[in-house]
Amino acid sequence: MDRIEAEKRIAELVETLNFHSKKYYVDDDPQISDYDYDMMMRELKRLEADYPDLVFDHSPTQRVGGTPLEQFEPVTHKVPLKSLQDVFSYAELEEFDARVRKAESDPEYVVELKIDGLSVALEYRNGIFYRGATRGDGLVGEDVTANLKTVQSIPLKLSKPVSITVRGEVFMPRSSFDRLNAERKAAGEQLFANPRNAAAGSLRQLDSKITSKRSLDFFAFNIQSFDGNMPKTHSECLDFLHTLGFKVIPFHNKYKTLSSAFAEIERFDSIRAELGFDIDGAVVKVNDLSARDHLGETVKFPRWAAAYKYPPEQKATKLIDIKVNVGRTGVLTPNAVFEPVVLAGTVVSRATLHNRNFIKDMGIKLGDTVIVQKAGEIIPEVVRVDETKRDGSEREFEMPTVCPVCNTKVVADESGVALRCPNPSCEAKIFRKIVHFASKDAMDIDGLGPAIVQQLIDEKLVNDVADIYLLTAGALSKLDGFADISAQNLVRSIENSKTAGLDRLIYALGIRNIGQKASRLLAKRFKNIDALIGASVDEIVDIDDFGDISAAAVVDFFAEQGNIELIDRLKACGVVTDYSEKLSDNRFEGLTFVLSGGLDSMSRAEAGELIESFGGRTSSSVSSKTNYLLLGDKPGSKLKKAQELGVEIIDEQKFLEMTR
Ligand code: NAD
Repeated sequence: MDRIEAEKRIAELVETLNFHSKKYYVDDDPQISDYDYDMMMRELKRLEADYPDLVFDHSPTQRVGGTPLEQFEPVTHKVPLKSLQDVFSYAELEEFDARVRKAESDPEYVVELKIDGLSVALEYRNGIFYRGATRGDGLVGEDVTANLKTVQSIPLKLSKPVSITVRGEVFMPRSSFDRLNAERKAAGEQLFANPRNAAAGSLRQLDSKITSKRSLDFFAFNIQSFDGNMPKTHSECLDFLHTLGFKVIPFHNKYKTLSSAFAEIERFDSIRAELGFDIDGAVVKVNDLSARDHLGETVKFPRWAAAYKYPPEQKATKLIDIKVNVGRTGVLTPNAVFEPVVLAGTVVSRATLHNRNFIKDMGIKLGDTVIVQKAGEIIPEVVRVDETKRDGSEREFEMPTVCPVCNTKVVADESGVALRCPNPSCEAKIFRKIVHFASKDAMDIDGLGPAIVQQLIDEKLVNDVADIYLLTAGALSKLDGFADISAQNLVRSIENSKTAGLDRLIYALGIRNIGQKASRLLAKRFKNIDALIGASVDEIVDIDDFGDISAAAVVDFFAEQGNIELIDRLKACGVVTDYSEKLSDNRFEGLTFVLSGGLDSMSRAEAGELIESFGGRTSSSVSSKTNYLLLGDKPGSKLKKAQELGVEIIDEQKFLEMTR
C-alpha cells in the first residue's frame, strides 16, 4: 500500500474504531464483534508501524482503555490498571514466550480464564473496603464504590486488617444476563448486546439500587499494592487473596512448558459453554513476581503477560429453509432457517440473509451445510457454505417474484438488490407500519402491541394508521382476551397519542431513512406538517446533519398521494401536526443542570434523561455556565460552589413542577 492509500486507510480506521470504542466503553452498546474490532485495530497498528509519522494523537492505539464518565468522581489509580497484549494464534504466543525467555531462562506460567467483564480496583484500608473504581483510561477511573458494595462476592471486611488494593473483574453471570434481557424485552426496553456490556452498564449506574438488582459477580486476579510482605509468586498472591475472603479467579494452574499451557487454553475453550459466565480468551502470566519486575511494562501493558483471544465460536448446521419476510417499507428479506445449534450459550435457528445478492455471493443453496456465528456476540449470521458437504440434493433458491403475503408482483429498486412489494395495502406492510406507528419511540400507544395489531387487522378494524383513531372501546372489547377495562385503557392511550408532537409523528410515519433524530430536526425546522409536505430537497439538505438520500426520502414520501390523504385523515381525527415547543419537550433548551445528592422520586440517571428529553444538558460540575443546581439529599461541595457563583438552586419539588 502506498503512502497516500495508507493515509486514507489510517484515517478511516481511526474514525471507525473511535466510533466503536465510544459505543463499547461509553454507551455500553457495541455494534460489532470484539473480533472484528480487534482485527481492525491490528490493521491500524501495522499501518502505524509502517508510517510512524501518520500516528494521530486521537488514534485509538494511543490510549489504554475507555473514557471515564464525568457523572462519577474521578479516582487516580495509585498503580495504573494496564491492559494486556493480545495474541490471536499459538505462533504469536510462542513469540511472546521467546521474548520472556530472553529475560528469564526458565519461566513458569500461570494460565487463567480471561473473564469478559470490566476491570476494577478495590482499595481496602485496615481490612475495610474503602473505595472501588473502574479502570477508566487506566490512569483515572470512576468512583463506583456504592455500586460495588452491592456486589455480594466483594468482601466489605477482609479476614485480616491489611491495607491492600486488589484488581479483578466484575462480570454478569449468563443466567442474570438472560433474566435481565427477558425483563427488558417485556418492558419494551433496549436489550444489552452481551453480558460484558450489561455488567458495565449496571456498574456505572448513578443509582446503586439498580446495580443491586443486576446480580453482578466478581473474581479477584491481582494485588496492585500491599502494605505487608508481598508474596513471591502470582499463585501465592491468589492464595493469599483467597484467605482474605476474595472469590479468586478459578483454574490458575502453573505450567513449565508452553505446550502444556496450550492444552489448558484448549481445555478452557472446550468448557466455555459450561462456565456460566463469558470468557473471551485465556491469559498467560509469568508466575514469579521478581521475574515480572525484570521483564517490566510498556505504557500500555505488562511484558510478562499475554491474552490469547479465541476466535468467534462457529458451528456447522443444515439450512432447512429460506423464509421471506416483508418489512414496513415493503422490502423482502430472506431469512435462513437452520437446524438449531448452541452458539455462545444460546440456541439459534435463524439468521438474516439480507438480500438476494448476499445469497448469490455466498452461493447458498437450500439443504446446504452452512457455518454460522454470532456477530457482536448476539446476532446470528451465516458466514459461509461448506461445499464439501454437498451431496447433490441441494436446490437453488430463487427470491419470489410475487409478494409472499399479498401476491402482488414485486419490483426491484434502482440498485437491483432489494425487492419490494409495491402494494400499499399489503397486509404485511400494514401490520409493520401500525406496529411501528404505535411503538414507544413513535406515538407511544401503550397497549397496542404486535398481537393486538394482528387481531385488529384480521378483524378488519384497521387498515392503516389513521384507522387506529376510529377505534372505540365497544369494538375493542369484542376482541379475544379484551376486557372492558383494557379496551378503555387502550382508547385512552390512543387519545393521548394525538398530542405526541410533530417530531414523533414524523418518526411514526416510517419514512425511509428518517430516524428519531432526523424527525426532531425536521419538526423544529418546518414547524408543521404542511410546511414539511411542501419542502424541497434543497431546503431539507440545508438542515445540519441532513444528507441528500434522507432528504429525497422525505420528498418522495410526500409525493405519494396516498400519504397526503393519510395525513389529512390523521388531522381530521385530531392528531396534532403542528410543532410545539412544549410537545416537543424542548423547554430546557440551552439550560445546563447539575445534580447533587440523591432524589426521592427518581434516580439521578432518570432525572438526567428527563432533562435531556426536554432539550437540556447535565453536567457533573458547577461552573458559571450552570443554570440550575438540583439539590438532592446529600448536596456535598457543589452547593457551596453554586452559592458562590450565584447559580439558581432548586429542590426536587421545584424540579418536578418544572417538568410537569
Ligand atoms: P482486553 O479486554 O483485551 O484485556 C485486558 C482486560 O482483560 C483487563 O483490563 C482485565 O479487565 C481483563 N481480564 C479478564 N480476566 C483477566 C485475568 N485473568 N487477568 C488479567 N486481566 C483480565 O483489553 P481492554 O483494553 O480492556 O479492551 C479492549 C478490548 O475491548 C478489545 O480488544 C475489544 O475486544 C474490546 N472492544 C470491543 C469493541 C466493540 O465495538 N466490539 C470496542 C472497543 C473495545
